[in-house]
Amino acid sequence: MATIPHSRSPFLHGQWTAADASALYGIPDWGKGYVGVNAQGNVTVMPTKDAAQQIDLAEVVGGLRERGIHTPVLLRFNDILVHRLREIRTAFDLAMSEHAYAGGYSCVYPIKVNQQRHVCEEIARLAVDLGFGLEAGSKPELLAVLGLSAMAGGPGVNGMPIICNGFKDDEFIETVTLATKLGRNIIPVVEKFSELELIVKHAKAYNVRPRIGIRVKLSSRGAGRWETSAGVRSKFGLFVSEVLQAVEYLRKHEMLDCLNLLHCHVGSQLYDIRVLKNAINELTHIYCELRKQGAGLSMLDIGGGMGVDYDGSQSAFPSSINYTVAEYASDVVYRIKSVCDSAGVPHPQILSESGRAMVAYSSVLVIDVLGTSRFDSTPDIAAIETALKAEPEQPQPILDLMGAFSGMTDRNVLETFHDATQARDEAMSLFGLGYMSLQMRAAAEQLFFAICHKVLERASRKGELPEELESLPELLSDIYFCNFSLFQSMPDSWAIDQLFPICPIHRLNERPSRVGILSDITCDSDGKIDHFVDKRIDKKTLELHEVRPAQGAEADGVVGVEPYYLGVFLLGAYQEILGDLHNLLGDTHAVHISLSPEGGWEIDEVIEGDTVEEVLSYVQYDVDDLKNAMRKDIEAACRQGRITFPEGKSLLKYYDDGLEGYTYLEG
Ligand SMILES: *Cc1c(COP(=O)(O)O)cnc(C)c1O
Repeated sequence: MATIPHSRSPFLHGQWTAADASALYGIPDWGKGYVGVNAQGNVTVMPTKDAAQQIDLAEVVGGLRERGIHTPVLLRFNDILVHRLREIRTAFDLAMSEHAYAGGYSCVYPIKVNQQRHVCEEIARLAVDLGFGLEAGSKPELLAVLGLSAMAGGPGVNGMPIICNGFKDDEFIETVTLATKLGRNIIPVVEKFSELELIVKHAKAYNVRPRIGIRVKLSSRGAGRWETSAGVRSKFGLFVSEVLQAVEYLRKHEMLDCLNLLHCHVGSQLYDIRVLKNAINELTHIYCELRKQGAGLSMLDIGGGMGVDYDGSQSAFPSSINYTVAEYASDVVYRIKSVCDSAGVPHPQILSESGRAMVAYSSVLVIDVLGTSRFDSTPDIAAIETALKAEPEQPQPILDLMGAFSGMTDRNVLETFHDATQARDEAMSLFGLGYMSLQMRAAAEQLFFAICHKVLERASRKGELPEELESLPELLSDIYFCNFSLFQSMPDSWAIDQLFPICPIHRLNERPSRVGILSDITCDSDGKIDHFVDKRIDKKTLELHEVRPAQGAEADGVVGVEPYYLGVFLLGAYQEILGDLHNLLGDTHAVHISLSPEGGWEIDEVIEGDTVEEVLSYVQYDVDDLKNAMRKDIEAACRQGRITFPEGKSLLKYYDDGLEGYTYLEG
């Protein structure tokens, strides 16, 4: 039996308040104090978790519209970023004082999680204050990080740890060596033995004492989606036997004091804290052994993996985590301390590369609903009867469906569903054999869906759905077409079934009367969202509001829809850079919103999304060539009288304007 919890069923009647909406969408669960709902029924962002400092998202979107910036738009909240970093700092400070830990802590930001300049600049700036650092995983990232640390400036810069992971060539190591000479606290982490040889070579050539890290292949496995990030089959790191060779190699070159850091990375979004504890336990034991052998170790880098509770369930499931930041900090500190204390080794400085946990909360995508597709639940019975009369023979399945539709009571719900399913199947096979008209097939479809609607309504009023009816909510849900590309804005939803919280950002003091799935504007059938966050169930549809027609029909009788906006939350980690140009839908606009010192909010920056011209040039089109070809073709058509000159002029104007415009639909 699948249970539809009473409080969550949109079919129930009674008073509805914004608080009900907040509970329905689980906002307090996944919002973690950063997201709320105000009395107007709008979603608010509280960047400092202080209810006195709220930013009304509907107001922001309205304000942007007035400035000509349309959805889809990515909102970045710098104040959330700051708050997150401080929260991590505080959690570790508390854990260290609680456990009398003497080694210190630094969080290094792996820029691969979100390399956007504004994000990285802010983190680099804060890093100086908080004693944090940066991490690069490739040559371009190294160059960015070196420049960022230079720009962050100040006396703290040379203390800021810069960790270099990933594969490194000769040139990479040479750059790192010279940066060490410049005074940077830069630590290349050896991923394969040959890198160590390069480090020693350049250190000698430039007469530098480098700081060296080694990534260890642990026997503890990772877990979840990134299970193979750790373990002996991982792509990176040295086997323990190689680590011992490295120690001998460095000893031989009188550089064992340079071996300063041990590193592991067990995987991203570690949803079960036990996995991390096991890895840390193993890594710390190795640390203590190597120190006893004379290595100049002083830092233990436990990698990334601090997760984010995307679905708000606080459980050991892939889109959630079964710990808080404070618990994570406490477990890490305690584990390292106990191993070191029993080995009689001084506490190392702990480093973590918690990228996702730093940035996930800070971006929200707002998309608009373009329209919906649904089966009408109230068929026009009179019209069907008229059509039936016109048929030479009255098809039995249609008569059965009519009977089922009108004869349903609370007592025969399941029976009616069975009868209707059978009649629908019979109708389809008659049609397939050529014994039924297209009109009758349409009537069968309409009646069947109308019956299913009634069945679902009656069954859910009882509070629980029999197993046979479990697929009905999904089958009957509407499709809400939304102005965005899943592949560009939330690629992990497609690639790894990552859940992101989604809810309307306004109208929350109105009871949602529909359930639907979301579809993007790519022509790819994968471009849809049909799994939603929920604390208890695998939720396949989302409660939504009726999309209302726009006020005042246009002169040509075409009626648009009133703006209906949905927010997609927690998109700050990985999504922007992993996003792709499927269907040539480009970067969305990004707008930086911050709390204004005078109260309220302000726009710090608007970064316009890609234009059509830009995305075409990524795939090597020459826009002038395209325009010229169109111009010639239109010219020829005008001369031959296929279209008039004013028509040709209009078409050319749409073409030119289109090239300069946004890749998304602009309402
Ligand atoms: C990707 C990566 C990280 C970041 O992991 P999060 O799960 O985002 O914290 C940290 N370290 C290394 C080596 C990585 O490859």
